[in-house]
Amino acid sequence: MGRVVIIGAGGVGSVVVHKCAQVPEVFEKIFLASRTLERCRKIQADIDSPIEIFQVDADISSEVVELIRKCEPDLVVNTALPYQDLSIMDACLATGVDYLDTANYEPPDEAKFCYKWQWDYRERFEKRGTMALLGSGFDPGVTNVFCAYAQKKLFDEIHYIDILDANAGDHGHPFATNFNPEINIREVTAKARYFEDGKWVEEDALSVHQTYDFPEIGTKKAYLMYHEEIESLAINIKGVKRIRFWMTFSESYLTHLKALENVGMTRIDPVLYEGHSIVPLQFLKSVLPDPASLGKSTRGKTCIGCRIEGVKDGAPKKVFIYNVCDHEACFAEVGSQAVSYTTGVPTMIGAMLMLTGVWQGKGVFNIEEFDPEPFMDKLMKHGLPWKIMEM
Ligand code: NDP
Repeated sequence: MGRVVIIGAGGVGSVVVHKCAQVPEVFEKIFLASRTLERCRKIQADIDSPIEIFQVDADISSEVVELIRKCEPDLVVNTALPYQDLSIMDACLATGVDYLDTANYEPPDEAKFCYKWQWDYRERFEKRGTMALLGSGFDPGVTNVFCAYAQKKLFDEIHYIDILDANAGDHGHPFATNFNPEINIREVTAKARYFEDGKWVEEDALSVHQTYDFPEIGTKKAYLMYHEEIESLAINIKGVKRIRFWMTFSESYLTHLKALENVGMTRIDPVLYEGHSIVPLQFLKSVLPDPASLGKSTRGKTCIGCRIEGVKDGAPKKVFIYNVCDHEACFAEVGSQAVSYTTGVPTMIGAMLMLTGVWQGKGVFNIEEFDPEPFMDKLMKHGLPWKIMEM
C-alpha cells in the first residue's frame, strides 16, 4: 500500500489518476496537484473513489516541498511538463521521497531535451537513499521495456532497433496534437538524430521517411525523428549498432505545421506584441485544442512498437514487439484518447512496481535498467496487451 502525489492534471495526469484508482490495494491514497485547480476538480469529479486535490506551481520547488509535507507521499509522479522535472526532483531530494516521470528535462528557452540534466542527480539520489525512475510512459517507457525484454529473453545479440510510433486516429480537427502542443511541436520540429556505430547522425527535421506495414492499421509513411529513449538505450542495450525512431503524421498535420513554422508561430524566443513579451509557440498552444479534450471525437487506433534485429542461437532473427490501442475503447474506459492512455497506463505500472518494492534502487534510473518481465506482465493486465511478431 502506498501514498502517491500526482503533479499535472492534463491528458496524461487524468489517465494516471483513473488507472491508480483502479488498483486501490496498491494506491492507498491519491493526491492530485496542478497549476490550475479547476483541472484537478474536473478529474476529481470523474473518479468514483475519493482523491484529494491541491494547487501547486511546480516551477517553484519550495511549493512542491510544501505539498509533499502536507500529503506525506511515498512517491511523487510528475505528469506536468518536462520544464518542471528538475524543480520536482529537487523537492523530492529535500523531503526524501521517490520520483517518477514520463519525459526528460528540457529548458524552456532552448529546444534541447537530453538526459544529462537528470543523470547529474544520480549521486544526490544515491546519497539520499531514494529512487528516481525516468521515462515511464509509452515512448519513452514501454519501448525501452520492450528492448530490455528482447535483450533478456529473445536475443543473444541485438544489432538494430527501429522504434515505430503510428497513430492512425482521427480527432476531427484540421490541426491538433495528442499531447501537450508546445512539447509536441518542439519535438517534431527538432533535427532528426539517430545512433549508429557509436556515433550520432543528424538529419533535417522531417526530411527522411520510410513506409512501414503496421498490424491492424496498415501501411503508413513514418518520419525519422530524435526521441529521448535512443540516448539511454544506446548505453543500456549492449552491442547495439543502430537505433532509430520513426513517427507517422497525417498530411493535414504536416501541412499545417509547415505553414505555422513558415510564419514564425513555432518560435520559442519571446517577441514583443503590443508592448507585451510573448512566446509565439506558447500563444499557439493557447488557441489549439486541449489534448485532454480530444478523447470524445477521436476514432481509430495507435500501433507503437520496436522492430529488433539480431542473433539468437547463431541464427539471424527479427521481431516486432508492439501494442495496438483503440482510441474509442480508451475513451469508454477513462474518458481519454489513446495517446494519453498509452502514456498514463505505464506511468501507473512504473509507480506500482516502485511502491510494491518490485523495482527498487538508490539513484536515478532509466526504465530499461530494471527487470522487464514484471512490467510486461502488468501491461497485459492493465490495458496495454502486447504481441511479438516474428519477421
Ligand atoms: P497537458 O498539457 O495536457 O498537461 C500538462 C499539465 O501539467 C497541465 O494540467 C498543466 O497545467 C500542468 N502544469 C504545467 N506547468 C505546471 C506547473 N508549473 N506546475 C504545476 N502544473 C503544471 O500535457 P500532457 O498530459 O499531454 O503531457 C504531460 C507530460 O507527459 C508531458 O511532459 C509530455 O511530454 C509527457 N508525455 C510523455 C509521453 C511518453 O510516452 N513518454 C507521451 C505523451 C506525453 P495547466 O492546466 O495550468 O496548463
